[in-house]
Order: sequence, then structure tokens, then C-alpha cells
Amino acid sequence: MMKTRFAPSPTGFLHVGGARTALFNWLYARRLGGKFILRIEDTDQVRSTAESAAGILQDMLWLGLNWDEGPQVGGGKNEYFQSMRLTTYEELIQKLLKDGRAYECYETPEQLAAMRAIFDKAKRPFRYRRAMPGRALRTEGPTVIRFDMPYEDITIHDAILGPVTVRADEHDDIIIRKSDGFPTYHFAVVADDHAMGVTHVLRAQEHLMNTPKHLALYRALGWEPPTYAHTPLVFNMDSTKMSKRDKTRAARAGLQAYAKRTADENYSKLAVAAKVSPEQIQAFMAKKVDDTALAATLAGTIGLDLPEIDVQDFRRSGYMADALLNFIALIGWAPGENREVLSRQEMLNLFSVETIGKTNGRFDRKKLTWMNGEYIRKASMDELLAALKSFIEVTDYPLKAASDAVLRELLAMYKDRMATFAEMARNCGFFFQDPVYDEKAKSKFVNTDEGQAFLRQIYPILDAVTDWRKEALTPAMEQILSLGEKKGAAAQAMRVAVSGGAVSPPLLETIALLGRDKTLSRLKAFISSH
Ligand code: GLU
Repeated sequence: MMKTRFAPSPTGFLHVGGARTALFNWLYARRLGGKFILRIEDTDQVRSTAESAAGILQDMLWLGLNWDEGPQVGGGKNEYFQSMRLTTYEELIQKLLKDGRAYECYETPEQLAAMRAIFDKAKRPFRYRRAMPGRALRTEGPTVIRFDMPYEDITIHDAILGPVTVRADEHDDIIIRKSDGFPTYHFAVVADDHAMGVTHVLRAQEHLMNTPKHLALYRALGWEPPTYAHTPLVFNMDSTKMSKRDKTRAARAGLQAYAKRTADENYSKLAVAAKVSPEQIQAFMAKKVDDTALAATLAGTIGLDLPEIDVQDFRRSGYMADALLNFIALIGWAPGENREVLSRQEMLNLFSVETIGKTNGRFDRKKLTWMNGEYIRKASMDELLAALKSFIEVTDYPLKAASDAVLRELLAMYKDRMATFAEMARNCGFFFQDPVYDEKAKSKFVNTDEGQAFLRQIYPILDAVTDWRKEALTPAMEQILSLGEKKGAAAQAMRVAVSGGAVSPPLLETIALLGRDKTLSRLKAFISSH
């Protein structure tokens, strides 16, 4: 049985690069009628968290990347969390020790640093080997257990990159059991890929240099290795690697501009508004800490949008899961014939490892936004409503309180005029709370003699309408549209008064949804205040 797997380490949120790895593995398994496994690699006790693992599962489900084996599948057992499989690893490590393929080491961190310094001085890369001079003698117990890497060239037959050889003198004896008793990633990944019957490993190129170590472990354990395929990395348009650092970098630039603009040089005002200490902000600005949560809080306080990096960032920014999935599939994969907008089924029909490129892919945000707009326009109302609700679940816009019926009305109005749900959520706020008035639009269309005259004429026309449904409002709206010499000028004054700005969906639909009371009171407020 063909099996692929996605094996994230739960040390943060699911990054789009990780999501693409998951997608490729999912596509590959589904395409070949195999199985797709999800395994949580939580062997780093310090950096792994249960929240991160839960977040990754949630993001995978949001993307529709369901797994055949893994957490919550098969009776909710825990064997797809590496931290629950320690006895399996221990047995295998004992076997390697018995076979003489692994050995105990006793160096303290200080001793290791001293060994490393000798290599640094000779300008040679430090590679720990069993036969090296100066190894520490047996003390109370071992600090770590290392694998005795064979001294020979190792060639990876990569399904994407072709043969890649790593020379014998480039290997080192990797640690397989850490001082805390947990296996290292290298060991657990091999033990589990074998135990779980994984036949194809698709992972990012950053793991390529790990593969010779894994191949050597397979051989030492007497197992057949899977097929490896290393996918190109995801880069920003400016050729830097796309990483969570992009967020802290953007936050620092934005905060610097904010400090200048508002003369809040030591961030004392910002600290109060963001409920953090000025020292915390200063440490962040001095790059002493790289805290993305703090970056998000500070950016939120000054109204700065940070670049989306993690899957949940894109969800919060109002991208549809299908659009995001389609877009990330195309980073480093070319389905041929210049095809771009592809359904899941089409992706499945066209996917093969041979069509994955070797060179790094680019994350073109403009294209993603365009693609999302395309998905929004082609989705059915039910699909849109479901996608919008999943956006609402993770955000806090005023439309949160709206009923499904109201959301459907809003979608019908905004569908053709939005690229993301966030754009709609920002623009439709006036339906739920007082509009934020655009001062320019106000002085141009409302606070003029003509604008005031229009509003005075409009008010009684609408006030006379008692049945506030669209059909019943139509004659009144026609009358309003015909006011004045320039067609639509009166409607524009009314639009600003009720929605706050000069751009909104068609007025009839707008006021029908807004309701009689809000429409009339907003008009009245403008008339009386002038
Ligand atoms: N846990 C590893 C990571 O998140 C998985 C690497 C692999 O696919 O082997 O990078």
C-alpha cells in the first residue's frame, strides 16, 4: 500500500510552506489510491505545545486536507504523537547499541564546546565521530547516544532532484537519544516512517541534507527506505525566504514610522494603548526579542496589517481555503498548459511528483488576492456562506452577530466587489454600527448646499414608506434617483449619509437591509446637524 505522510513539529502555527508540503503529500496519496498519514513530531519537549498541535489539526481540517491515519482518526488513540511512542524508540536504540551501531557519549556541554573550539581554530567543520581523539571517558551515565555513521559516500536518489551525493567526510555521528531520554527528530522520523509503512516521503528541500543520515539509519536497522522527494522552498517576491520573521520585520518598520509620525519616541503612549510595558516594546525594537505575538498586538494597536505567513493568518484575512490551497499548489508545481485556477479534483488528476520543479517558488500575494476573488465569484451561495462563517469564527468584526439570512444578503451584495471576506467585513460595518464617516466624502456630497437640499427632499420620500421591503421601496428609490439635474447626485448624498462613504453596494439593497429606523435616523442626523 502506497503511503505518504505529513509530519509537522508542533512548535508554532502551520506555515503556508508546511501546508504546501501537506497538500503535496495529500494529493500524491489520493492520486495513487494510497493513504495519507498525519503524525505529530513532538520530541522537542521544550518547544512543542499541545496548543500548537491542536492548531495544526484545525488548520489542516480548514484546508480540507483530511488524513486516513493520525490524531482523532481510528478511535482517538495517541500513537500518532511521537511523545507517546518512547518505548518503541527505546527498543530500537537498545538494538543499535547491542549491534554496535550506536554508542554512549559522556561529554558535558563545556567539554563539547572545548572540542568544537579545536576544530574552529583549525578552520575545519566540527564533526563528532566515534574515532575522534579527546572523547570524554565514562562517567556516571551517558549524556546522549549517537549513531555510528558509516564512513562512506551516500547517494540520495531523489524523485525530484535526481541523485545527490554526500561525501563520507561530511557526515557526523548524529545524536539519536538526547539527554532528556527523548529520541531526536532524525531517529524518531526513521523509526516511525518505517513502523507506519510510509512508502513516499515528500518534504521541503531544507531536509535534503538530513536524508543521508536517515538512509544510513534505515540500513543499520535492516529496513528498506522509502522514496524521497524534496520540494523547492517558498520564497517571497524579493527572494528572501518566507518566514515568520517577515512579520516581526514588517512590525518594526511600521512601529518606527508610527513613532516618527506621532512623536511617541520611546513608545510610552503605545505601551499604554497596547497594555504592554515600554521596555517590552523597546526590547522588541532593538531585536532583543522576536516575539510574533507581541508584534501582532502592537501592529493591531496602531492599525498596521502584518504579512500573512501562517495558514490561520490567511483565514483571518478572509481567504477561502480552496483558493489558498489552489494558490500554494502552484508554488513549485506546474500542472502544465499554463493552468492556474484548478479545483481539487483537477489538481488530483494532474498531480505527479515529476511535475514538481527544482527551483524555489515565489509567493505572489497579488496573485493570491486575484485568485481568491475568482473563487468568491464562482462559488455557490451555500459554499460562500460556509466559508464566510469559518472566517467569522476566527475574527471579530461587527458582522459576527449577523444571522445566516443577513449574511446571505450581504454576500449577494458584495460578492462581485470583494477580493477577501475581510474586505467585505470592513466595508459592511455600517450595517451593524454607526458608520465611520469619510470626511472627504462628507464635505463633497453632504455638507454642501446641494447635498443638504437633497437630503431634505429624500427624507420625506422615505419617511412615507412603511413597508420596508425591497419591492415596496423601489418606487421611492426611483423617485430619489431622479432628483436633481445630475442623475445619481442625490443618491450619492444619501449613500454617504447612510453608509459613511462614497462607495457602497446599490442603495436599494443597502437600505432594505439596513432597515427603516437606521436609514431615517442617519439621514435626519445630517439634516439637523447642518
Ligand atoms: N518534523 C519535521 C518538520 O516539521 C518533519 C520533517 C520530515 O518531513 O521528515 O520539519
